[in-house]
Amino acid sequence: MSAKSLGILGGGQLGRFFTMAAQNMGYSVVVFDPDEKSPAGKIADKHICKPYTDVNALNELRAYCSAVTTEFENVPAETLQHLEKDIIVRPSSKAISIAQNRIKEKDFLKECGIPVGTYVVIDSIESINNLDPKILLFPGILKTAQFGYDGKGQIHVNNKIELEAAFKSFNRAPCTFELKLNLDCEFSVVLARTFNGEFMVYPLIRNQHESGILDCSSIYPNSIAETLENQAIKLAKRIANELSYVGVMAVEFFLSSNTLFVNEIAPRPHNSGHFTIDACVYNQFDQQVLTLIGNKLKNEATKFPISLMLNLLGDLWFRNGKQGEPKFELIAGSGISVHLYGKSEPRIGRKMGHITILGLENQTQEDVMNKADTLRKILWKN
Ligand code: ADP
Ligand code: MG
Repeated sequence: MSAKSLGILGGGQLGRFFTMAAQNMGYSVVVFDPDEKSPAGKIADKHICKPYTDVNALNELRAYCSAVTTEFENVPAETLQHLEKDIIVRPSSKAISIAQNRIKEKDFLKECGIPVGTYVVIDSIESINNLDPKILLFPGILKTAQFGYDGKGQIHVNNKIELEAAFKSFNRAPCTFELKLNLDCEFSVVLARTFNGEFMVYPLIRNQHESGILDCSSIYPNSIAETLENQAIKLAKRIANELSYVGVMAVEFFLSSNTLFVNEIAPRPHNSGHFTIDACVYNQFDQQVLTLIGNKLKNEATKFPISLMLNLLGDLWFRNGKQGEPKFELIAGSGISVHLYGKSEPRIGRKMGHITILGLENQTQEDVMNKADTLRKILWKN
């Protein structure tokens, strides 16, 4: 291992794209992930396959690397604190500890004056009994404060009785309980911030979810009113500044009754930012490497200002009642890129890969959306 090694905690697809970006820039990469079949571990220069709490293994990582980042927010904050003693860790344990806990995250946003939807903390049966009847919370969503992703750890409830049952089904783990908003649309801002506070921001991304999992993300000019777009970018930057954030960060937004609400923060590159791999000169993982090594960010304009990303869930591997890899050769064409993450086995709801569709030459947003529908139908039918 050279002194130029960079480390990443977590070896899923985000870690894999980071590894590729860092290797392309001449760095060796050490992936730390307890799963021996992790997608990033497979392509890393070195894979440390130990639990995140294994101090000896963390010391080994520290010895190999000059700087470490993370691909997911559930790394224990103590793990990051341990590494921070000797080497650069970006984003910091402080930023991660807020983003990994919905209660801390919502409280932090509220304290900063960032607009969030109505929520309360539920951490006991009393907290349910003591709910202020004057606050409109139903129908609402109970979300475990920690370890939720892709809509997991969330239950929709209509009244106090259902809320109590839901809380018990989470073994009374601390939760946020949020009013369910009528969403006009959802979008995200993916940005990078350097240690001296410089920013680069990708175009605003519009997101569609199916059953709590991101299904489709797209960029196109004027996707929402300019004032709202500017407001969202301003809010995202303010959050990053308040956290003294260094790295790539995504902020998820809800638009409801023409009002912006921050939903959550991801302290890492984001699924909705995957279009950047094909549509931008420098993608979100390149920026993650640049912020980690302390270089200037690359601010080139987006090469393809109209583009769309479709997630490929494991469900597609079980179409027509039998198991088999989708026939990607049937959708090959200009402006279409299929990315597969090298996961060991397909599972329902598991993210296996994604497809990017670029708007070439005179193609409009509508053309790209129609193409996405066609491709999806072909993959499901065959
Ligand atoms: P995850 O960590 O799984 O991404 P989110 O809080 O982002 O959790 O919820 C996943 C999706 O569920 C959101 O993108 C949105 O579509 C829906 N959702 C979550 N909270 C609310 C809410 N308060 N009102 C309406 N829809 C919501
Ligand atoms: Mg989310």
